[in-house]
Amino acid sequence: MKTVFILGAGASFESGAPLMRDFIPVAKKLQERNVFGASHAQIQDVLNAAYRDLRTVQAKASIEYLNIEELFSAIDMGAMLGVFGSRDPKTLEDLRRAVRVFIYRTLEETVRVSRTDRKILPPSGYGELAQMTFEKLKESVRHGRRDVSFITFNYDTCLEFALVRTGVGIDYGLSEPCLDADEQQYQIVVPVMKLHGSINWTRCPQCKVIVATEIDPWRRAHFIDLLDHAKELKLELGSRIPMKRHGCGSALDPVPMLVPPTWNKASDSGALKEVWRRAAQELARADNIVVIGYSFPATDTFFRYLFALGTDSEVHLEKFVVINGEHGSETVPRFAKLLGPMSQRALIPHHFVFAGASAQGVIRDVLQG
Ligand SMILES: [Zn+2]
Repeated sequence: MKTVFILGAGASFESGAPLMRDFIPVAKKLQERNVFGASHAQIQDVLNAAYRDLRTVQAKASIEYLNIEELFSAIDMGAMLGVFGSRDPKTLEDLRRAVRVFIYRTLEETVRVSRTDRKILPPSGYGELAQMTFEKLKESVRHGRRDVSFITFNYDTCLEFALVRTGVGIDYGLSEPCLDADEQQYQIVVPVMKLHGSINWTRCPQCKVIVATEIDPWRRAHFIDLLDHAKELKLELGSRIPMKRHGCGSALDPVPMLVPPTWNKASDSGALKEVWRRAAQELARADNIVVIGYSFPATDTFFRYLFALGTDSEVHLEKFVVINGEHGSETVPRFAKLLGPMSQRALIPHHFVFAGASAQGVIRDVLQG
């Protein structure tokens, strides 16, 4: 039985990442506390775009200007059209870069990795999921199969960090492996398809490929190196990109490869096609699909088509489990609509929190079924 997990922002909420609809107010508060250092001006530029420029747009058209997915999509589209409120069109390319900085820096300042005196711990909820994945894969690899894969909309790397800390390597489906050779040494590897990019991905301007840099920045850190740090560590993979070089010797684009959920030609997302194709293949082979913390927003028409075309296969969908937190009931009709009449029977919604024991029990049952 093959299980495909689909993860959204709700899965990283307990690790500190803001939900999409809270993202901009959270960043605004951090900006007021002056935490962004060298990115201060770019963060302010994006806050102005939301609170000043888009707010006026909203009077005449309904764009949720405080939702980061909507803001990101609007900026990307605005840069393509050369229109964004009263802004000088010449500044719109800078704004496009700034919104990517806004996203990765906010995630760096909010996602927290805890540690004890001796050990760095995987983020909340993900640790247990990674352990169950490890056990399932250990068994299925023996039979020549890979019975688990992940599709994620998250820009953060909480999932991958938990997996590598548990002994499972990551296959991002990119044309080349992670730059950090230590990430390539795993016996057990799981596909992780990141449909909207990742804070540890960027582009080599020379080779025009997407490059993943690293996943675990503390792999070689001795415990003594960590003693200076606070009890909670920050996963600053985006900020570390400028320190890396591609295999060809070129400097990498210092801004991570992140794409907005709306699918348009403005986002130079052509290079992500391979990842999307792999995701469709994974969906086609799924017996079970488990959705965690993904609310299937209206902006995500792209996923609707990916899902429809991807699941059009001979494999019968056994279970479509949705774990969407205490307030997840509003998302259930959206998933019911996504599933055709043939698959609607498979839908099993749960309003559990990802890191809680109930959700973990549900996941275990699916993997063992
Ligand atoms: Zn290169």
